[in-house]
Amino acid sequence: MSSRNVEFCTSCGVRLVEEGAVKFPCPECGHEIGRCGSCRQQGNVYTCPKCGFQAP
Ligand SMILES: [Zn+2]
Ligand SMILES: [Zn+2]
Repeated sequence: MSSRNVEFCTSCGVRLVEEGAVKFPCPECGHEIGRCGSCRQQGNVYTCPKCGFQAP
């Protein structure tokens, strides 16, 4: 439907459409990880869905 590649927050699963959301490659495997603004603010742990890497 949309040509835009909407990703989801790895921590809470919300769509990364809000301001402050970021995407970055996993330090371990390079898989793209998404985080929403609120999870960044709260410092929630994220887990790479591909390799299981965890970091705050
Ligand atoms: Zn989130
Ligand atoms: Zn990974």
